[in-house]
Amino acid sequence: MKVAFISPEVVPYSKTGGLADVCGALPQALAGLDVETCVVTPGYRCTKSAPAEKVEAPVRIKVGDTEVAPTFRRAGRVFFVDCDPYFDREGLYGTPNGDYKDNAARFVLFCRAAMELLRHVAVPDVLHAHDWQAGLVPTYARTLYRSAYEKTKTVFTIHNLAYQGLFWHWDMPLTGLDWKHFHWKELEFFGKISFVKAGLVHSDAVVTVSPTYAREIQTPQHGCGLDGVLRERASVLHGILNGVDYAEWNPETDALLPACYSARAPAGKSSCKAALQKQCGLPEAPETPLVGMIGRLVEQKGIDLVLAVIEDLLKEDVQFVLLGSGDPRYQEALLGVQRRRPDRISVNIKFDNGLAHLIEAGSDLFLMPSRYEPCGLNQIYSLKYGTVPVVRATGGLADSVVGAATETMKKGTATGFAFADYSPVALADTMRRALGAYHEKKAWKKLMAAGMKQDFSWEKSARQYLKLYEGLTRGSSNA
Ligand code: ADP
Repeated sequence: MKVAFISPEVVPYSKTGGLADVCGALPQALAGLDVETCVVTPGYRCTKSAPAEKVEAPVRIKVGDTEVAPTFRRAGRVFFVDCDPYFDREGLYGTPNGDYKDNAARFVLFCRAAMELLRHVAVPDVLHAHDWQAGLVPTYARTLYRSAYEKTKTVFTIHNLAYQGLFWHWDMPLTGLDWKHFHWKELEFFGKISFVKAGLVHSDAVVTVSPTYAREIQTPQHGCGLDGVLRERASVLHGILNGVDYAEWNPETDALLPACYSARAPAGKSSCKAALQKQCGLPEAPETPLVGMIGRLVEQKGIDLVLAVIEDLLKEDVQFVLLGSGDPRYQEALLGVQRRRPDRISVNIKFDNGLAHLIEAGSDLFLMPSRYEPCGLNQIYSLKYGTVPVVRATGGLADSVVGAATETMKKGTATGFAFADYSPVALADTMRRALGAYHEKKAWKKLMAAGMKQDFSWEKSARQYLKLYEGLTRGSSNA
């Protein structure tokens, strides 16, 4: 079985979100199951220093009226598509002032270059495209590149449906596709071209990154206008929960921590807490519950809920450490809270992997009150680090955290705290419940231990993907 991933991001070369982690780890996990995998990704500026060898594949592509000659590099199983005018830029998709204006052309070129490259090196059994940037791949496999990929099946994974790759209709000639595909059953979406819709309607199977999110996106509330399309494709829509990379995120081996620890030998966690408090300028108070939060500061992540309740919560004996960046409105509001309560909250507006690890290890609770969450990684890391997650029960959060309730506590299956309503009251109540539980040492230890025992390694997810690929190549798409 040969599977080619077409992805706009891949760890360790480029990353803006969880998609990059998936496309770094899943191919490797599949390789462990004897699947031959490769990944095709853009040669952004941040990939240029990677040791790689040149790949000979003479390719010329017309993007609208412009003839482009991409070149290729290879680092292990990863192929980079180089085309400096498009990819040798500071950001992946834009600058802090907005998206690059030529993103349609950039990702048309990327998809077509991937199709050309794979035809040269080896036509795969499965083309597995990720997110809108690769959304045209399933369409190309059925149209412009049909003869080369006649036997190839296509899978399209949605990591976040809110990012759709919408472009004005006059970008249609850039795609090289006939105008007949600008149709409400295909690429057209309210008068625009939708790259994500291309992937949804033309792929043999659609996957999203948790079973709950797969159900949610078929509803008007979470479907981002595409719920009707997704309901039509329900028979080939699968939810497969992401795994996490325990080689990087494991408190027993984490080299980024001042001290390692495990459920059996937990002492190191206290050292991590002290180090985190020190680094963030908070009082070193071992008994004060410390709440961590990491993520993009965008509407999705429930920052408005946090802002609605934080000042009230800070009246209690609690500390917060927050790491993230994003919407200037949220950044300013959070920094304002820090100015008023520097003794209780530390707000770190930056991207800092080392601090992310220290927060996971040094916090007692991890807050993730997302409005929606396709999968989410931080709550899964938190479980492994004995940092009890407090989550809104949506998408992957609902699929990975078992909320504490009388029955789950009695059975010992609870791993965190969860609330359903997207409301400040629900968040405040749940936080108070969690903070109260923190002081019941015996029950808290049990909660931590149950979380640390959870196994969300990639192997499990990779087996589900493999089953899907096998079903497709055998002629059915049932995973
Ligand atoms: P999303 O993909 O929606 O951004 P996820 O929870 O799935 O959210 O994945 C986010 C990943 O990015 C995690 O690995 C998280 O640790 C990391 N991350 C997010 N923001 C920051 C930040 N400011 N500094 C360091 N790591 C971050």
